[in-house]
Parts: sequence; structure tokens; C-alpha cells
Amino acid sequence: MRARVAAATDIGHVRDQNEDRYLVTDRVFAVADGMGGHLGGEVAASLATEVLQRLSERGEGSLAERLREANRVVFERSMLDRAVAGMGTTLTAAEIQGDRARLAHVGDSRAYLFRAGELTRLTEDHTLVQRMVDAGELTPAQAERHPHRNILTRVIGVEPDVRVDEKQVELQPGDRLLLCSDGLTTMLPDAAIARVLRDEPDPQTAVDRLVAEANAAGGIDNITIVLVDLIEEEAEGAPRSHAATTPEGRGAADEPPSATAGPAPVRRAPTERARVAGRLGRIGVPGAVALGVLVLGLVGLRLYLDSQWYVGIADGRVAVYRGIPAEVAGFPLHRVVTETEIRAEDARALALYRDLDEGITAADRAEAEAIVAQIRADLARLATPARGAP
Ligand code: CA
Repeated sequence: MRARVAAATDIGHVRDQNEDRYLVTDRVFAVADGMGGHLGGEVAASLATEVLQRLSERGEGSLAERLREANRVVFERSMLDRAVAGMGTTLTAAEIQGDRARLAHVGDSRAYLFRAGELTRLTEDHTLVQRMVDAGELTPAQAERHPHRNILTRVIGVEPDVRVDEKQVELQPGDRLLLCSDGLTTMLPDAAIARVLRDEPDPQTAVDRLVAEANAAGGIDNITIVLVDLIEEEAEGAPRSHAATTPEGRGAADEPPSATAGPAPVRRAPTERARVAGRLGRIGVPGAVALGVLVLGLVGLRLYLDSQWYVGIADGRVAVYRGIPAEVAGFPLHRVVTETEIRAEDARALALYRDLDEGITAADRAEAEAIVAQIRADLARLATPARGAP
């Protein structure tokens, strides 16, 4: 059997950057959906696919081991570089070996097998809503519409180690292996995806139509698809057209606002884990399970908090915070990112900045810094005519 591969990545209609990447080599295929605001998402997804590509070219380790190495590399970069701190990415990969495919997967991108007109999902979403479905708290239909369906319970790059789902699938000629980011699956139900795969025998035509239909349905997220068609060797006289289409995806063109989660300057899991481990003895198994779900939820919460910014007061000075100005059970949901020399009482004296104690929220770090610059400028303006220039 040989593979005919088509791939596409598209920014969609809503996002202002494409944080998805894909990898197509002659045997290894992957989709990565990065998150982390500004550069973070793109860096995480690019790094992860680059590591996977490099290790795959050298034939190093199993596919799952390569994903764990990608996790380590992304995590270490996020620890070293404040600009991309807290970044993460999904990574769903397939390796064709003879007549079988090995799959390795973390996050909510998906792999599907299309065989004899039927579409079967091969991966499980690592999301909070999937956990709730598994626990019987939500129906799959409710999960699809859930406002927090994007909260991930497992991500590449946000902890020093990650658990990787593995699977092996026996392949037959005529099979189509589909890898995609959630920008496709949140826009199109499986039945619609299956219809396109039934209608379009040419892989590139099928991929392009899936992208077009996801965009027609709203295109609220980046859309990335890799389609691998398995063909009997002698079934086609055409030259081998597969192999490295692109070492990794590049963004496509398009439009306006908003990205996903954001960077985070501080380490996380080890302390959380230690705290949980210390308590297990006392709370028993059901409590431990509930706590496990809670901790997994906290990963999602952290991703959410890392995308929030505001300007507030720290130690009597104006400061830029990441998170939200609140606490839960004594744990602050924020931390100071930038301290300034601006005295809080000076800023509060201006009617405009009276709310500083509660925090002035900003869309992102740049906007938070802009608010600080504005405060500084307003104070300087006030100070100059009143007291004369220093
Ligand atoms: Ca996405």
C-alpha cells in the first residue's frame, strides 16, 4: 500500500492569526493546534511539529515517545522565554508502517478512519466536557454546545511530562485517515465530514471542500486538515505524489480578532501534584477521583487565567497582572507580571483611574501595558503645569 496525502491549513473567518500547524512527511503525519496568545500558540505548535519531524526523520523512539519529547521541548522553552510562557499545543500524529497506522495523541485535535463509507473516530478529546460525558454528566450533544468545550485537560507543553494516548489501526486499501484540528470538528458534525469524504475521491479536493464548508459554517477557529488515502500499490500507475508536501503548516490569509489562552511566567503542576498526593490518604478513592477531575479542570482554568490581563495595585504601586482580580479559597487567581514606579495614590487621584483597586481589565498584555503608559502620561501632564517642570 502507498499513501496519497493532501493537507490544508486556514485561518478561518474570526481569528487574527493561525496557530495551527501540520506535518506531512512520507510516513508521519500530524496536526497541532497551538494556544498561548500573541506568539505563544504559533511557537508551541511549530516547535512540537518540528521536534516530531526531526525525531521521525532519525527514526528515534516510538511515535508516543516523540510526542513526549515534543512536550518537554515546548515546556522548557516556555520556562525560558517569558514572551511565550504558558504556551501549549495539541498534537495528533499518525505513522504509517506497512499495513498499519500508529497513532499518538494529546488534546482535542482528532484522528478519524473513513472506511467503506463510514467515519469512525480514533481519538478521544482531552477536554473537560469529554470527562463530563464519560462521567454521565453531559450528553454528547450537550457537550458539543457547551460554552467550555474548549477547556483542555491534557496539552503538549504546559507540564514537564504528559500522558500520550496510543493506538494502532490495521489499514486496508481504500481507507482514508483524517487528522484535523477542532476548527473543523466544531464547525461540521461527523456526518457532514463523512459526506464530503464519500463525495470527493480526490484527497486535495476533499480537504479543500472540508475547509470551505467549515468556513461556510462560521469558521470561528483555525481549520487544519491532513488526509491520507491508502492505495493498493498497483492500483494506480501515477507517480508517487506524496512525501514532504510541507514540513509544517503555514498560515493562510484572512481576518480579525482574538486568540486563545496566554503565556504564564510560573511553573505549575509539580506543586499541584504534590499537594494532591499528600491528601489522597485522607480523602479516600471517590474523593481522589473528584479531586483528579478538579485538578484536570485546573489545567483548563490555568489556560483561561493566563489569557486574562488587568492593571491593578501591588504594594502601593501600579502593576500589570495576569489572571483575574479574585481569589478562590484563599488562592489568588492572578499574579503580578510587571511592576511600575507609579504610586497608586497618584494614579487614584485621577478620576479615570479610581477603579484601579478592583483592576482595569485589558484584552491582552499589550493593552495592559498601554493602560500603564496612559496613566504615566496623564500623571506627567498633570504634574508639569501644576508644579512646573522639574
Ligand atoms: Ca483550535
